[in-house]
Amino acid sequence: MAERPSFELTKYSPPEKTAADYSEAEKEGFRQLFKPAVARGQTFNNTFLILLVVCLPLFFFSRHTAFYPLFIATFISIIAVMIVGSIVFQLRCPACKKPAEDTIRTFCPECGGKAIPGGLLYAGECASCGKKLRRTVKGRRLWKIKYCTHCGVLLTDTSI
Ligand SMILES: [Zn+2]
Ligand SMILES: [Zn+2]
Repeated sequence: MAERPSFELTKYSPPEKTAADYSEAEKEGFRQLFKPAVARGQTFNNTFLILLVVCLPLFFFSRHTAFYPLFIATFISIIAVMIVGSIVFQLRCPACKKPAEDTIRTFCPECGGKAIPGGLLYAGECASCGKKLRRTVKGRRLWKIKYCTHCGVLLTDTSI
């Protein structure tokens, strides 16, 4: 039978192990791994914001000077760093390695219960705590992350 790699790449496959398959010690280890990852991501975001705030006025005021090409190059570099950084610092679940900021899959990110995934036109919902797992028009999530939506492992005690 012919393989369909392009189809397999886009198809979602849930992790083999879920929270119930890990020991308490393993789960504690996951939380310890997740904490510094959150901190790294925040440091990166802050650094990037400062860079942007510093460079934007320079960029603007250099428009009619010989430095203009230099600032365009700087600006493009910052954008490139941002794109690379958002991939490198993407928050991933230490247990299943899937992105923590993903769309709702199996578990409720707020209570770890069974979630009902949303679709293009309707929001996801939690069957356990009843929380509507919606995003804003701009795509910002309106839920807090405590549990991994893929495997249900508790990622952090302080919701992010
Ligand atoms: Zn819930
Ligand atoms: Zn996970």
